[in-house]
Amino acid sequence: METIKEVWSGILAYLRSQEDISEVAYNVWISCIEPRSIEDGEVVVYVHTNFQKKIVSEHYAGKLKEAFEQVLGIPLGLKIQSGEEEEGSEAPAFGKPSAEPGAKNGADDEHSFENFIVGSSNKFAYAASQAVASKPAGYYNPLFIYGSSGLGKTHLLCAIRNEIQKNTPSARIIYTKGEYIANELIEAIGSGTTPEFRAKYRQADVLLVDDIQFIAGKISTQEEFFHTFDALHQANKQIVLTSDRPPKEIATLEERLRTRFEMGLLADIQPPDLETRIAIIKRKAQLLDLSISDNVAEYIATQLKNSVRQLEGAVKRMRAQYLLGGEQPSLITAQNAIRDIRNDSQPVPITVERIITEVARTMNVTPEDIRSTKRSAPISQARQVAEYVVRDITGLPMKSIGEEFGTRDHSTIVYAIQKVENRMTKDPSFKGMVMDIIKNISEK
Ligand code: ADP
Ligand code: MG
Repeated sequence: METIKEVWSGILAYLRSQEDISEVAYNVWISCIEPRSIEDGEVVVYVHTNFQKKIVSEHYAGKLKEAFEQVLGIPLGLKIQSGEEEEGSEAPAFGKPSAEPGAKNGADDEHSFENFIVGSSNKFAYAASQAVASKPAGYYNPLFIYGSSGLGKTHLLCAIRNEIQKNTPSARIIYTKGEYIANELIEAIGSGTTPEFRAKYRQADVLLVDDIQFIAGKISTQEEFFHTFDALHQANKQIVLTSDRPPKEIATLEERLRTRFEMGLLADIQPPDLETRIAIIKRKAQLLDLSISDNVAEYIATQLKNSVRQLEGAVKRMRAQYLLGGEQPSLITAQNAIRDIRNDSQPVPITVERIITEVARTMNVTPEDIRSTKRSAPISQARQVAEYVVRDITGLPMKSIGEEFGTRDHSTIVYAIQKVENRMTKDPSFKGMVMDIIKNISEK
């Protein structure tokens, strides 16, 4: 019982920071959930009414589980109880209103400059971020931070946001992701609200876009983003972008955007060296109130080399072992944690579903179109690209690919793949688009 209370504030902080949970939804549905217990790999939470239970189960159960996995580093089952079904048992006093209503998008202490451990691999990006945060549009505009996954790009972007918000509470800061911009624009086009979309971005004082590589290849998104970028840049508003690769390696990024992304400062982040890894482990343990000996910290640092996210995962798992099983951090618990992380870091399984979604998003059709039998040129083309990408990434036999796309017989698939291959040899920008789709799917 105590243990779940200890982690609950972390769970709430995680949920508050999620872009896809609106502030209203957070205040109405999440803040009134009460933690009950963690036992036998299952978390039990409590809500007051059956109606709340229904909404939370249908819409937020996945997010809650994700939050527990993020905070504790291990996957757990979830059980939602409602006061109305617990007949006879005394319902606990109904949850106080959320600690800080409207705190969503407020300060996120964890991802601060202070909590960022600086070493030779990231000091350049760190210094550039600090400079930008201390004087937006005063030094480098845009600032473009790039590096592999799990090295601290999002952390720095959040630190910039927090610092500017702290210094200038009135600043209009928009923090978003490349993927969201693309989705938002497709929705805006669909519902005829492109002017609102445009207005929203153009009134920003600071625009922070995480994982900008996702707009590559998406023609209308790039077009919109280009104009937004120019409008903000000319008005002397700070722009910061992050990406898993430098602009020149994003194959289907339009030339005019590439030039703009490169006209400020490009700052890369490399994997941390041993000293920095040790310092990060110690700092993460300290933040989680966990005491880890130097031996143990060093052991983890020599085992996990490429991603700070993994180092953090190891510390979280050791904390979970301590909170849930009373095991003090030791070389043995470290070994268990590392083994789990290695098993977990098998790449996210790539499904046909994910491929279709990414192709649809890139080629401006819907996933349903791709799965349909519609024959209009843009839809057929997107379907063929999806079939090609499925073949390229999964190596499934033609017959199974045919089954995945309805009952299309395998000669249709052979034809589709050949057609895409031919076009790729003749049309470099088409080839670039297909390569970007494959990269976006395999590096997610
Ligand atoms: P990216 O966006 O590059 O994939 P994140 O910023 O999400 O990586 O970092 C992954 C995790 O590692 C985050 O929890 C972040 O706080 C942490 N992290 C990354 N670099 C550092 C660092 N230098 N010091 C402290 N924590 C870090
Ligand atoms: Mg990130």
